[in-house]
Amino acid sequence: MKRRILLLPGDGIGPEVVREAKKVLEVVGKRYALQLEFREANLGGAAIDVEGTAYPASTRAAAREADAILLGAVGGPQWDSLPAAQRPERGLLAIRADLDLFCNLRPALLFPELAGASSLRAERVAGLDVLIVRELTGGIYFGEPRGISVREDGVREGINTDRYDENEIRRIGRLAFEAARKRGGRLCSVDKANVLEVTMLWREVMESLRPEFPDVSLSHMYVDNAAMQLVREPKQFDVIVTGNLFGDILSDTAAMLTGSIGMLPSASLNASSAGLYEPVHGSAPDIAGEDKANPLATILSAAMLMRYSLDESEAANDIERAVADVLSAGKRTGDIATNEAEEAVIGTRAMGDAVVSALSYEGE
Ligand code: NAD
Repeated sequence: MKRRILLLPGDGIGPEVVREAKKVLEVVGKRYALQLEFREANLGGAAIDVEGTAYPASTRAAAREADAILLGAVGGPQWDSLPAAQRPERGLLAIRADLDLFCNLRPALLFPELAGASSLRAERVAGLDVLIVRELTGGIYFGEPRGISVREDGVREGINTDRYDENEIRRIGRLAFEAARKRGGRLCSVDKANVLEVTMLWREVMESLRPEFPDVSLSHMYVDNAAMQLVREPKQFDVIVTGNLFGDILSDTAAMLTGSIGMLPSASLNASSAGLYEPVHGSAPDIAGEDKANPLATILSAAMLMRYSLDESEAANDIERAVADVLSAGKRTGDIATNEAEEAVIGTRAMGDAVVSALSYEGE
Protein backbone atom coordinates (compact mmCIF):
# COMPACT_ATOMS: atom_id res chain seq x y z
CA MET A 1 0.00 0.00 0.00
CA LYS A 2 1.37 3.38 -1.03
CA ARG A 3 1.58 6.07 1.68
CA ARG A 4 1.40 9.56 0.30
CA ILE A 5 3.51 12.07 2.17
CA LEU A 6 3.26 15.71 1.15
CA LEU A 7 6.29 17.87 1.92
CA LEU A 8 5.66 21.59 2.43
CA PRO A 9 9.14 23.02 3.04
CA GLY A 10 7.89 26.64 3.23
CA ASP A 11 10.22 29.53 4.02
CA GLY A 12 13.47 30.42 5.80
CA ILE A 13 15.04 27.33 7.37
CA GLY A 14 11.97 25.25 6.40
CA PRO A 15 13.52 23.70 3.26
CA GLU A 16 16.76 22.88 5.13
CA VAL A 17 15.09 21.03 8.00
CA VAL A 18 12.51 19.24 5.82
CA ARG A 19 15.32 17.97 3.56
CA GLU A 20 16.97 16.31 6.57
CA ALA A 21 13.71 14.80 7.84
CA LYS A 22 12.99 13.40 4.39
CA LYS A 23 16.36 11.60 4.43
CA VAL A 24 15.37 9.99 7.73
CA LEU A 25 11.91 9.01 6.47
CA GLU A 26 13.44 7.40 3.39
CA VAL A 27 15.73 5.25 5.51
CA VAL A 28 13.02 3.98 7.87
CA GLY A 29 10.59 3.68 4.94
CA LYS A 30 13.01 1.33 3.21
CA ARG A 31 13.68 -0.66 6.37
CA TYR A 32 9.96 -1.27 6.99
CA ALA A 33 9.05 -1.57 3.26
CA LEU A 34 6.53 1.26 3.57
CA GLN A 35 6.27 2.37 -0.08
CA LEU A 36 6.43 6.04 0.84
CA GLU A 37 5.50 8.34 -2.03
CA PHE A 38 6.76 11.89 -1.58
CA ARG A 39 5.21 14.94 -3.20
CA GLU A 40 6.19 18.55 -2.64
CA ALA A 41 4.11 21.75 -2.79
CA ASN A 42 4.33 25.42 -1.86
CA LEU A 43 2.95 27.04 1.27
CA GLY A 44 3.42 30.45 2.86
CA GLY A 45 5.82 32.98 1.40
CA ALA A 46 7.18 30.49 -1.13
CA ALA A 47 3.62 30.03 -2.43
CA ILE A 48 2.94 33.78 -2.49
CA ASP A 49 6.04 34.34 -4.64
CA VAL A 50 5.17 31.61 -7.14
CA GLU A 51 1.38 31.42 -7.11
CA GLY A 52 0.25 34.70 -5.54
CA THR A 53 -1.40 33.22 -2.47
CA ALA A 54 -0.21 31.51 0.72
CA TYR A 55 -2.38 28.38 0.30
CA PRO A 56 -2.85 27.85 -3.44
CA ALA A 57 -5.43 25.50 -4.94
CA SER A 58 -2.69 23.10 -6.12
CA THR A 59 -1.38 22.76 -2.56
CA ARG A 60 -4.91 22.32 -1.23
CA ALA A 61 -5.57 19.47 -3.69
CA ALA A 62 -2.30 17.73 -2.78
CA ALA A 63 -2.95 18.20 0.96
CA ARG A 64 -6.40 16.64 0.74
CA GLU A 65 -4.98 13.58 -1.03
CA ALA A 66 -2.06 13.04 1.36
CA ASP A 67 -1.96 10.51 4.17
CA ALA A 68 0.33 12.83 6.07
CA ILE A 69 1.98 16.20 5.60
CA LEU A 70 5.40 17.32 6.79
CA LEU A 71 5.76 21.09 7.00
CA GLY A 72 8.89 23.19 7.63
CA ALA A 73 7.88 26.73 8.58
CA VAL A 74 6.41 29.80 6.94
CA GLY A 75 7.00 33.54 7.11
CA GLY A 76 9.80 36.03 6.86
CA PRO A 77 10.54 39.75 6.81
CA GLN A 78 10.13 40.03 3.03
CA TRP A 79 6.37 39.41 3.40
CA ASP A 80 5.80 41.43 6.59
CA SER A 81 4.56 44.50 4.73
CA LEU A 82 1.68 42.59 3.10
CA PRO A 83 -1.81 43.16 4.51
CA ALA A 84 -2.57 40.69 7.32
CA ALA A 85 -4.96 38.63 5.19
CA GLN A 86 -2.27 37.97 2.55
CA ARG A 87 0.68 37.04 4.78
CA PRO A 88 2.40 33.64 4.73
CA GLU A 89 1.05 32.74 8.19
CA ARG A 90 -2.47 32.84 6.75
CA GLY A 91 -1.47 29.80 4.69
CA LEU A 92 -0.89 27.92 7.91
CA LEU A 93 -4.23 28.91 9.37
CA ALA A 94 -5.93 28.03 6.07
CA ILE A 95 -4.48 24.52 5.80
CA ARG A 96 -5.33 23.76 9.44
CA ALA A 97 -8.91 24.90 8.87
CA ASP A 98 -9.21 23.22 5.45
CA LEU A 99 -8.16 19.82 6.80
CA ASP A 100 -10.05 20.39 10.06
CA LEU A 101 -6.88 19.80 12.08
CA PHE A 102 -8.45 20.70 15.38
CA CYS A 103 -6.08 18.84 17.69
CA ASN A 104 -2.49 19.96 18.14
CA LEU A 105 -0.22 17.65 20.13
CA ARG A 106 2.93 19.26 21.44
CA PRO A 107 5.16 17.06 23.54
CA ALA A 108 7.75 18.83 25.67
CA LEU A 109 10.20 16.09 26.46
CA LEU A 110 13.60 16.81 27.91
CA PHE A 111 16.39 14.60 26.62
CA PRO A 112 18.63 14.09 29.69
CA GLU A 113 21.71 15.23 27.75
CA LEU A 114 20.12 18.66 27.24
CA ALA A 115 19.09 19.38 30.84
CA GLY A 116 21.94 21.89 31.03
CA ALA A 117 20.57 23.85 28.07
CA SER A 118 17.24 24.53 29.77
CA SER A 119 16.49 28.01 31.05
CA LEU A 120 15.68 26.35 34.42
CA ARG A 121 18.04 24.55 36.75
CA ALA A 122 18.71 20.99 35.59
CA GLU A 123 17.07 19.38 38.66
CA ARG A 124 13.82 21.26 37.98
CA VAL A 125 13.55 19.86 34.44
CA ALA A 126 15.40 16.53 34.39
CA GLY A 127 12.87 13.92 33.30
CA LEU A 128 10.32 16.48 32.15
CA ASP A 129 7.66 14.93 29.94
CA VAL A 130 4.61 17.14 29.36
CA LEU A 131 2.10 16.86 26.53
CA ILE A 132 0.26 20.04 25.60
CA VAL A 133 -3.00 19.46 23.72
CA ARG A 134 -3.98 22.69 22.01
CA GLU A 135 -7.27 23.35 20.20
CA LEU A 136 -6.25 24.58 16.79
CA THR A 137 -9.18 25.54 14.59
CA GLY A 138 -11.33 27.67 16.87
CA GLY A 139 -11.07 30.41 19.44
CA ILE A 140 -9.82 33.92 18.95
CA TYR A 141 -7.60 33.17 15.92
CA PHE A 142 -10.69 32.38 13.85
CA GLY A 143 -13.61 34.10 15.62
CA GLU A 144 -15.71 36.72 13.84
CA PRO A 145 -16.10 39.65 13.94
CA ARG A 146 -12.49 40.62 13.53
CA GLY A 147 -10.61 43.51 11.98
CA ILE A 148 -9.45 47.09 12.40
CA SER A 149 -11.97 49.82 11.68
CA VAL A 150 -12.50 53.52 12.30
CA ARG A 151 -15.23 54.26 14.82
CA GLU A 152 -17.79 57.03 14.45
CA ASP A 153 -15.67 59.25 16.70
CA GLY A 154 -12.73 58.83 14.29
CA VAL A 155 -10.69 56.60 16.60
CA ARG A 156 -9.34 53.33 15.16
CA GLU A 157 -10.37 50.14 16.91
CA GLY A 158 -9.13 46.55 16.65
CA ILE A 159 -11.47 43.63 17.32
CA ASN A 160 -11.06 39.88 17.66
CA THR A 161 -13.57 37.40 19.00
CA ASP A 162 -12.95 34.40 21.22
CA ARG A 163 -15.63 31.82 20.50
CA TYR A 164 -16.04 28.08 21.11
CA ASP A 165 -19.15 25.95 20.89
CA GLU A 166 -19.60 22.98 23.16
CA ASN A 167 -19.03 20.42 20.38
CA GLU A 168 -15.62 21.91 19.60
CA ILE A 169 -14.69 21.76 23.28
CA ARG A 170 -15.99 18.22 23.69
CA ARG A 171 -14.00 16.75 20.78
CA ILE A 172 -10.65 18.24 21.89
CA GLY A 173 -11.50 17.34 25.49
CA ARG A 174 -12.07 13.68 24.60
CA LEU A 175 -8.78 13.45 22.70
CA ALA A 176 -6.96 15.00 25.66
CA PHE A 177 -8.56 12.58 28.13
CA GLU A 178 -7.59 9.69 25.84
CA ALA A 179 -4.00 10.95 25.63
CA ALA A 180 -3.85 11.25 29.43
CA ARG A 181 -5.19 7.70 29.75
CA LYS A 182 -2.26 6.43 27.64
CA ARG A 183 0.27 8.39 29.72
CA GLY A 184 0.31 9.30 33.42
CA GLY A 185 -3.48 9.57 33.84
CA ARG A 186 -3.48 13.26 34.81
CA LEU A 187 -5.17 15.98 32.76
CA CYS A 188 -5.01 19.68 33.60
CA SER A 189 -7.47 21.91 31.71
CA VAL A 190 -6.26 25.50 31.44
CA ASP A 191 -8.74 28.38 31.14
CA LYS A 192 -9.57 31.85 32.37
CA ALA A 193 -12.99 30.93 33.73
CA ASN A 194 -12.90 33.69 36.35
CA VAL A 195 -13.13 36.33 33.60
CA LEU A 196 -14.00 34.92 30.17
CA GLU A 197 -17.42 33.37 29.51
CA VAL A 198 -16.06 31.33 26.60
CA THR A 199 -13.77 29.54 29.04
CA MET A 200 -16.53 29.17 31.66
CA LEU A 201 -18.23 26.98 29.05
CA TRP A 202 -14.87 25.28 28.37
CA ARG A 203 -14.60 24.31 32.06
CA GLU A 204 -18.22 23.08 32.23
CA VAL A 205 -17.77 20.84 29.17
CA MET A 206 -14.46 19.43 30.47
CA GLU A 207 -16.22 18.59 33.76
CA SER A 208 -19.06 16.89 31.86
CA LEU A 209 -16.52 14.48 30.30
CA ARG A 210 -15.17 13.36 33.66
CA PRO A 211 -17.58 10.38 34.09
CA GLU A 212 -16.45 8.92 30.73
CA PHE A 213 -12.86 8.72 31.98
CA PRO A 214 -12.93 7.57 35.61
CA ASP A 215 -9.29 6.48 35.33
CA VAL A 216 -8.08 10.01 34.53
CA SER A 217 -7.81 12.70 37.19
CA LEU A 218 -8.97 16.07 35.87
CA SER A 219 -7.91 19.38 37.35
CA HIS A 220 -8.41 22.98 36.25
CA MET A 221 -5.99 25.89 36.34
CA TYR A 222 -6.24 29.54 35.33
CA VAL A 223 -3.87 30.40 32.50
CA ASP A 224 -1.89 32.99 34.47
CA ASN A 225 -1.20 30.42 37.18
CA ALA A 226 -0.39 27.76 34.55
CA ALA A 227 2.21 30.06 32.99
CA MET A 228 3.74 30.55 36.43
CA GLN A 229 3.62 26.84 37.36
CA LEU A 230 5.24 25.82 34.07
CA VAL A 231 8.38 27.72 34.97
CA ARG A 232 8.17 27.04 38.74
CA GLU A 233 7.45 23.28 38.92
CA PRO A 234 6.92 21.96 35.38
CA LYS A 235 7.14 18.29 36.34
CA GLN A 236 3.76 18.54 38.14
CA PHE A 237 2.07 18.34 34.70
CA ASP A 238 1.30 15.27 32.63
CA VAL A 239 -1.19 16.41 29.95
CA ILE A 240 -2.40 20.00 29.59
CA VAL A 241 -5.45 20.77 27.41
CA THR A 242 -6.32 24.32 26.44
CA GLY A 243 -7.68 26.60 23.73
CA ASN A 244 -5.90 28.03 20.73
CA LEU A 245 -4.50 31.28 22.16
CA PHE A 246 -3.42 29.96 25.58
CA GLY A 247 -2.00 26.84 23.95
CA ASP A 248 0.10 28.91 21.57
CA ILE A 249 1.73 30.78 24.44
CA LEU A 250 2.09 27.93 26.94
CA SER A 251 3.63 25.58 24.39
CA ASP A 252 6.35 28.12 23.60
CA THR A 253 7.04 28.46 27.32
CA ALA A 254 7.30 24.68 27.58
CA ALA A 255 9.64 24.84 24.60
CA MET A 256 12.21 26.86 26.50
CA LEU A 257 12.13 24.38 29.39
CA THR A 258 13.44 21.72 27.04
CA GLY A 259 16.51 23.69 26.05
CA SER A 260 15.70 24.77 22.55
CA ILE A 261 12.79 25.47 20.32
CA GLY A 262 14.84 23.54 17.76
CA MET A 263 14.02 20.26 19.57
CA LEU A 264 10.21 20.40 19.66
CA PRO A 265 7.97 18.48 17.27
CA SER A 266 4.22 18.80 16.88
CA ALA A 267 1.32 16.95 15.32
CA SER A 268 -2.03 18.36 14.22
CA LEU A 269 -4.71 15.76 13.71
CA ASN A 270 -8.23 15.60 12.40
CA ALA A 271 -10.96 13.08 13.08
CA SER A 272 -9.53 10.62 10.55
CA SER A 273 -5.86 9.76 10.97
CA ALA A 274 -4.58 12.34 8.49
CA GLY A 275 -2.25 14.82 10.08
CA LEU A 276 0.10 17.74 9.61
CA TYR A 277 3.48 17.43 11.29
CA GLU A 278 5.74 20.38 11.88
CA PRO A 279 8.42 21.70 14.19
CA VAL A 280 7.18 24.20 16.78
CA HIS A 281 9.74 26.78 15.69
CA GLY A 282 9.27 29.36 12.95
CA SER A 283 11.27 30.04 9.81
CA ALA A 284 14.24 31.57 11.70
CA PRO A 285 15.15 34.07 8.96
CA ASP A 286 18.21 35.13 10.99
CA ILE A 287 19.96 31.80 10.27
CA ALA A 288 18.25 30.70 7.04
CA GLY A 289 20.57 29.29 4.39
CA GLU A 290 23.55 29.10 6.77
CA ASP A 291 23.42 25.38 7.60
CA LYS A 292 22.91 26.31 11.26
CA ALA A 293 19.31 25.23 11.86
CA ASN A 294 18.65 22.32 14.18
CA PRO A 295 16.70 19.73 12.14
CA LEU A 296 15.83 17.53 15.14
CA ALA A 297 12.39 19.10 15.79
CA THR A 298 11.42 18.27 12.20
CA ILE A 299 12.98 14.80 12.40
CA LEU A 300 11.03 14.18 15.63
CA SER A 301 7.90 15.47 13.84
CA ALA A 302 8.58 12.82 11.19
CA ALA A 303 8.63 10.25 14.01
CA MET A 304 5.20 11.48 15.16
CA LEU A 305 4.02 11.20 11.54
CA MET A 306 5.04 7.54 11.55
CA ARG A 307 3.24 6.93 14.84
CA TYR A 308 -0.03 8.84 14.39
CA SER A 309 -0.78 8.87 10.66
CA LEU A 310 1.00 5.76 9.34
CA ASP A 311 0.54 3.68 12.49
CA GLU A 312 4.20 2.62 12.35
CA SER A 313 5.20 2.85 16.01
CA GLU A 314 8.37 0.83 15.61
CA ALA A 315 9.65 3.17 12.92
CA ALA A 316 8.76 6.13 15.18
CA ASN A 317 10.62 4.57 18.10
CA ASP A 318 13.65 3.94 15.89
CA ILE A 319 13.81 7.60 14.87
CA GLU A 320 13.45 8.83 18.46
CA ARG A 321 16.11 6.41 19.64
CA ALA A 322 18.46 7.54 16.88
CA VAL A 323 18.01 11.17 17.97
CA ALA A 324 18.77 10.20 21.58
CA ASP A 325 21.88 8.30 20.43
CA VAL A 326 23.16 11.28 18.47
CA LEU A 327 22.72 13.53 21.51
CA SER A 328 24.43 10.97 23.77
CA ALA A 329 27.34 10.96 21.35
CA GLY A 330 27.75 14.69 22.09
CA LYS A 331 26.64 15.98 18.68
CA ARG A 332 25.00 19.40 18.87
CA THR A 333 23.78 22.15 16.59
CA GLY A 334 24.67 25.63 17.87
CA ASP A 335 21.29 26.23 19.56
CA ILE A 336 21.69 23.26 21.94
CA ALA A 337 25.42 23.41 22.54
CA THR A 338 26.33 24.24 26.13
CA ASN A 339 29.95 23.29 26.42
CA GLU A 340 31.77 23.47 23.16
CA ALA A 341 34.87 21.79 24.57
CA GLU A 342 33.04 18.49 25.03
CA GLU A 343 30.47 18.72 22.30
CA ALA A 344 30.94 18.71 18.56
CA VAL A 345 28.96 21.64 17.10
CA ILE A 346 27.71 20.57 13.69
CA GLY A 347 25.48 21.97 10.97
CA THR A 348 22.03 21.06 9.71
CA ARG A 349 23.20 18.54 7.11
CA ALA A 350 25.69 16.87 9.41
CA MET A 351 23.03 16.50 12.10
CA GLY A 352 20.66 14.87 9.59
CA ASP A 353 23.47 12.56 8.45
CA ALA A 354 24.26 11.67 12.08
CA VAL A 355 20.63 10.61 12.68
CA VAL A 356 20.67 8.58 9.46
CA SER A 357 23.84 6.77 10.49
CA ALA A 358 22.53 6.22 14.04
CA LEU A 359 19.57 4.51 12.36
CA SER A 360 21.77 2.33 10.22
CA TYR A 361 20.06 -1.02 10.13
CA GLU A 362 23.34 -2.81 9.64
CA GLY A 363 23.55 -6.54 9.36
CA GLU A 364 20.08 -6.87 7.86
P1 NAD B 1 11.47 31.56 15.11
O1 NAD B 1 11.03 30.31 15.79
O2 NAD B 1 11.59 31.49 13.64
O3 NAD B 1 12.90 32.01 15.70
C1 NAD B 1 13.09 32.36 17.06
C2 NAD B 1 14.59 32.18 17.42
O4 NAD B 1 14.87 30.79 17.52
C3 NAD B 1 15.54 32.73 16.36
O5 NAD B 1 16.68 33.25 16.99
C4 NAD B 1 15.94 31.51 15.55
O6 NAD B 1 17.21 31.60 14.95
C5 NAD B 1 15.88 30.41 16.60
N1 NAD B 1 15.48 29.12 16.00
C6 NAD B 1 14.24 28.77 15.58
N2 NAD B 1 14.26 27.54 15.05
C7 NAD B 1 15.53 27.08 15.15
C8 NAD B 1 16.18 25.87 14.77
N3 NAD B 1 15.53 24.85 14.19
N4 NAD B 1 17.50 25.76 15.00
C9 NAD B 1 18.19 26.75 15.60
N5 NAD B 1 17.64 27.92 15.98
C10 NAD B 1 16.32 28.09 15.75
O7 NAD B 1 10.46 32.71 15.55
P2 NAD B 1 10.36 34.23 15.06
O8 NAD B 1 11.73 34.78 14.89
O9 NAD B 1 9.43 34.88 16.01
O10 NAD B 1 9.64 34.19 13.66
C11 NAD B 1 10.31 34.19 12.40
C12 NAD B 1 9.29 33.99 11.30
O11 NAD B 1 8.69 32.69 11.45
C13 NAD B 1 8.15 34.99 11.33
O12 NAD B 1 7.83 35.33 10.01
C14 NAD B 1 6.99 34.23 11.99
O13 NAD B 1 5.75 34.68 11.59
C15 NAD B 1 7.26 32.83 11.47
N6 NAD B 1 6.74 31.74 12.32
C16 NAD B 1 6.26 30.66 11.67
C17 NAD B 1 5.81 29.58 12.41
C18 NAD B 1 5.36 28.36 11.66
O14 NAD B 1 5.58 28.26 10.46
N7 NAD B 1 4.75 27.40 12.31
C19 NAD B 1 5.85 29.59 13.81
C20 NAD B 1 6.38 30.73 14.44
C21 NAD B 1 6.82 31.80 13.69
